[in-house]
Amino acid sequence: MKRCRLVFAIALIVPGAGAAAEGTSMAAQRVHEAALVLDTHLDTPANLRRPGWSIADNHQHEGDLSQVDLPRMKAGGLDGGFWVIYTAQGARDDTGKRAARDHGLKRLASILEMLAAHPAEMELALTADDAERIAGAGKRVSFISMENAAPLASDPTLLTAYHRLGLRMLGITHVRNNDFGDSSTDPAGAEWKGLSPAGRALVAEANRLGVVLDASHASDAVFDQLLALSSAPIVLSHTSADAIYDHPRNIDDARIRQLAAKGGVIHVNAYGGYLVDIPKIPEREAAMESLSKKFGSESRLPADRVADYLAERRAIEARYPTRRATFDEYMAHLLHILKVAGVDHVGIGADWDGGGGVVGLEDVSALPRITEALLAAGYSEVDIRKIWGGNLLRVLRQAQEGAAPPASP
Ligand SMILES: [Zn+2]
Repeated sequence: MKRCRLVFAIALIVPGAGAAAEGTSMAAQRVHEAALVLDTHLDTPANLRRPGWSIADNHQHEGDLSQVDLPRMKAGGLDGGFWVIYTAQGARDDTGKRAARDHGLKRLASILEMLAAHPAEMELALTADDAERIAGAGKRVSFISMENAAPLASDPTLLTAYHRLGLRMLGITHVRNNDFGDSSTDPAGAEWKGLSPAGRALVAEANRLGVVLDASHASDAVFDQLLALSSAPIVLSHTSADAIYDHPRNIDDARIRQLAAKGGVIHVNAYGGYLVDIPKIPEREAAMESLSKKFGSESRLPADRVADYLAERRAIEARYPTRRATFDEYMAHLLHILKVAGVDHVGIGADWDGGGGVVGLEDVSALPRITEALLAAGYSEVDIRKIWGGNLLRVLRQAQEGAAPPASP
């Protein structure tokens, strides 16, 4: 009861925060607040260099399109998760590799600066025990992951340095093939038939360090080879189900079962384009492209230009309307994957600030809705705790137990 009142008090104090979760029952709020709630794919570091934007401020999704900040994490009962070092796949020549290397280091620095600036509210987590201790102290559990290993292409030994600075999860590719392996969505198709020789070496090194391997975005062949090669269970940090919507970026039931059989966890993605078929409207795409040429990257948009940008963007959306995935459609993926994988092998990675979010689940303040829907589907409080964080921490423990003892400094 105390925790419930706290949630409602926060919702009252922080205007707008928690509004989406207000409809959830007291029972769901209680279960949600009592669980350690983690998300494996927070793309929010992309916002950290946005002029005038701070993780400590309460933003509105409809105001600046962001989905995660400290007030909304508290309102939605999100204890933390993996902050992502995301790198868009660029050219793979020496210049491109250097650019990716520098970008990765800058994004890591942004995350560490964010944590250093808010020591009373957030803390770097390196182990599963850290996560429990940090959440117990009322702070946000802050793990670090990498999406697309491109920053390591110029020198894969950088993984050791990243690990020392906090990296605990590594995704091999993004939407294009890279030097380590094939993507599920490269228009050119497979280049390596799975992992490259450098990719195989990277897997061994990640295992040695105790870094969890993430097969989201990678091709099915990479997934199969990671599963075969990795000495620790692997994860999919943000992936949905082929059986609900057949898309190269999603995963089929047979592979979900293989992942579970090896102790891994699939964290279910809330990226609309991977949940349902959203037909592309060429005129809309063209208008959006010229909008982004006019205003530059959304993640660099100065606060005083956001209103103009959003007005133009909404005019395009009104002119060329398209459907959006809904909360129920997200739950269809989650409930299906739970049935196939079993409750010990499912988590949540909704791709916040990376394109995730659906109608009815627009930002992290709405997360208690997922707990409510899981309770309604018959899942117990124990099950729900596994889904929200218990399974993830188990995999992290296994990866770290299998790591080689750290070399003396
Ligand atoms: Zn992604």
